[in-house]
Parts: sequence; C-alpha cells; structure tokens
Amino acid sequence: TGDGTGRPSVSLAQPDDAHAFDKIRLESELRAALERKELEVRLQPIEEIISGRIAGYEALVRWQHPERGAVSPAEFIRLAEETSLILPVGDYILERVCDMLGELQRRGRKPLPFIAVNLSARQLDDAQLVERILAHLRKRDLPPDRLKLEITESLVLDYARIADLLERCHAVGMHVALDDFGTGFSNLGPLLTLSFDQIKLDGSFVKALDRQRGVAVVGVVVAMARALDCDLVAEGVETREQREILHQLGCRYAQGWLVGKPVPLDHVLKA
Ligand code: C2E
Ligand code: CA
Ligand code: CA
Ligand code: CA
Repeated sequence: TGDGTGRPSVSLAQPDDAHAFDKIRLESELRAALERKELEVRLQPIEEIISGRIAGYEALVRWQHPERGAVSPAEFIRLAEETSLILPVGDYILERVCDMLGELQRRGRKPLPFIAVNLSARQLDDAQLVERILAHLRKRDLPPDRLKLEITESLVLDYARIADLLERCHAVGMHVALDDFGTGFSNLGPLLTLSFDQIKLDGSFVKALDRQRGVAVVGVVVAMARALDCDLVAEGVETREQREILHQLGCRYAQGWLVGKPVPLDHVLKA
C-alpha cells in the first residue's frame, strides 16, 4: 500500500499469538512516539480542477518507526482505536493541523486554504469534540470554516449522533465531509438525513473511469452531489486522463498523486 512517501509500509498482519504480543509492544511504542512528538502530519493538496488552484489540503498522519520504518496510518490508527490512545493521538493531530493553519495565515496565504482532518470513531463519541476544536482555533485566531472534519462512511452508523455533530459544526461554520463515499454497504441512507458539506468519492471509482460503467456511475454521483449542493472531491486521481474525465463529468475537486503527494508543511510554504 502506498503511503505517498515512496517508502514501503509495514504490514502488522501476523498469526494471532505473535500478533497479540506485537500489538502490546506497538501500543507502548506508539505512546512513546506521541510523547516524543514523532508523529508527523503531512498535507496532501486538493485541487479545484477548473482553475488548477489548490483549495485546501487533507492532513495525513505519518509514523516513521525507528526500526519498523513507516507504519501505515490505517494500521496504527486502528490500533490506537482499540486502546485509549486514539484520543490523545487525535487531539495531537488536531492541534498540529491548527498550528499549520495558523502558520499559513501568518504567512499571509489568501484565500486561506482549508485543511481537512480525519476523525475516528472514538473521537466522535467525545461530547466535547467540537468545543475542543473551537478552543484550538480560537487560541490561534483562526476562522472555523477553514477546518473540515472527514468522517468515513463506515462510521456513519448512528445518524442521530452524526446529525447532532453536523448541526453543532454548522452552527460555528465548520465543514464536515463524508469520506470514502461508495465503499460502504451503500446505502445512500446517510444522505437522506445528513447534510454533509462535501462528499469524497473513493479512489476505487476513479480507477474505474477507464471503463464506460465507471464513467456512468461517477456521472450519477456528480449529479447527486450537485443536487444536494455538496462539494465533490475525487480521491486517488493519478493520471491526466482521469482528471480530464472528472472535469468533463463536472466533478469540482481532485486529490491524488497527480496533484501532489502528502508533504510536510515546509514544502507547502515554499510552493
Ligand atoms: P483516507 O482518509 O481515505 O486517505 C487517503 C489515502 O489515500 C491516504 O493514505 C493517501 O496517502 C492515499 N492516496 C492519496 N492519493 C493517492 C493516489 O493518487 N493513489 C493512491 N493509491 N493512494 C493515494 P494513507 O495516508 O496511507 O492513509 C490511509 C488511511 O489512514 C486514511 O484513508 C485514513 O482513513 C487513515 N488516516 C490517515 N491519517 C489519519 C489521521 O490523521 N487520523 C485518522 N483518524 N485517520 C487517518
Ligand atoms: Ca480522508
Ligand atoms: Ca478517503
Ligand atoms: Ca480510506
């Protein structure tokens, strides 16, 4: 699996016993990494296709383990989810993202790009989540509409809870994106009741654009997003051909290696 760094990522899949042991060790290593601030947040650009302008970034966490090398975030986030570590890890990522927004603002970036942060299930259980994010933003004098929260489709189980989160975010101008759209046991159900600001079309649909069926399906998603007055971001865009088809279909935003890989803030500031 690519982590956008070109380095191979480590797979933690192992037989049960070894796995349980390894998990405990990895957990304490993750805790130490957090304390030593070894988790790095990278930014992957999101382009407005028609203008070529970078509208914002998605924050993607990286853990460069001293011996194991790059540990895939999908795996260590899941590990953190299974323990109580996800709350401090999640909060650390949120703070780093607010620091980055603050730095972009300080350097006079206008319009200020948004940064989208991935949330995990346990963070959604936290009743103080929105207040805590607001506190981070206020401390740095940042407009709340520059922060987007990404919630993956598989986390939208309890509609009432997500509806409450959306309402509280919208009340303060914060945006929420439905991530990995199309990968769930779909189910357009969430869209019947929940007003997301953005839909992120999973990369598997972009891959399918080389077939007529894929073009047909993505075309329908574009029309649906438009009818719902929802921004659409296509993920995993790797080729010019894919971007061109997305443009013709009327998809507004593209994210993927074609536009740029996840990079440290320094690279963004130099660009
Ligand atoms: P995601 O939210 O769907 O993130 C998109 C993934 O696609 C990222 O993988 C990104 O590096 C990768 N990607 C971007 N462009 C391309 C492309 O053109 N082609 C291909 N093949 N892949 C591309 P990454 O960084 O390994 O993250 C994997 C997952 O881990 C994320 O999926 C997200 O669910 C989770 N994750 C990453 N960072 C965080 C975080 O800070 N917090 C939480 N809760 N989860 C995170
Ligand atoms: Ca995401
Ligand atoms: Ca995604
Ligand atoms: Ca994903």
